[in-house]
Amino acid sequence: MSEWQAISGLSIAIDGPSGSGKGTVAKMLANEVGLPVLDTGLLYRVVASVALSRTVALDDSKALAGLVDGLLTSIDWTVEGIFFEGENVTADLRSEQVGEAASRVASLSAVREKLLGLQRQLAQAGCIMDGRDIGTVVLPDAPAKFFLTASVRERARRRWAQLKDDGGSSLEAVVDELKMRDQRDRERQHAPLCQAEDAITIDSTTMRVDDVVDRMLGVLERRGLIQLSS
Ligand code: C5P
Repeated sequence: MSEWQAISGLSIAIDGPSGSGKGTVAKMLANEVGLPVLDTGLLYRVVASVALSRTVALDDSKALAGLVDGLLTSIDWTVEGIFFEGENVTADLRSEQVGEAASRVASLSAVREKLLGLQRQLAQAGCIMDGRDIGTVVLPDAPAKFFLTASVRERARRRWAQLKDDGGSSLEAVVDELKMRDQRDRERQHAPLCQAEDAITIDSTTMRVDDVVDRMLGVLERRGLIQLSS
């Protein structure tokens, strides 16, 4: 049983660069306050994954927008992850290859616009949503926004530690890959990764994940968005 209870319909936005720990923190916070988590990166990943399997070029805006139209009825986006044509494909979507392709399709405004309505619709009942443009574009009125960051080296180290058991890339290769992804996410024209003016930045480079979550809980409590369950 969680100690905290969120006010009805509360939406919390968590944005930040790749590897900043958004997913882990969002899940832990969700556990504490009893809200569902919606990981918006998975939506871009499913579009990329289907584009790769159907050999649709990752810069073909028109074809990809058409692909998204077709996908919207086959994607079931739930707190357990993404179901595509009835199958939970979340684990398959986590590969580096799909992540890299997702960052490319996510730079296309036609793709982003198609996914915007779906994200807003699913956030309506209240949730913790993590991504790159949640506080700025998807949920600009969210009463709590966090921008989670960490140095590129620390983010790469965390990712590399996850990948190395599967015989993955060297640390230097992961640093280079993250830098490229950061640049693409920050410099794209439409909904780039940037901090909302009213977001609270948390730099987790030298923080433990529990301390990050505690800091967030403190902000939510001070704002009257959560209270201790009786
Ligand atoms: O967070 P994750 O690594 O799963 O996201 C995959 C890619 O999707 C990111 O590199 C980013 O380019 C894109 N993305 C985005 N906007 C979001 C979530 C993810 O552009 N709200």
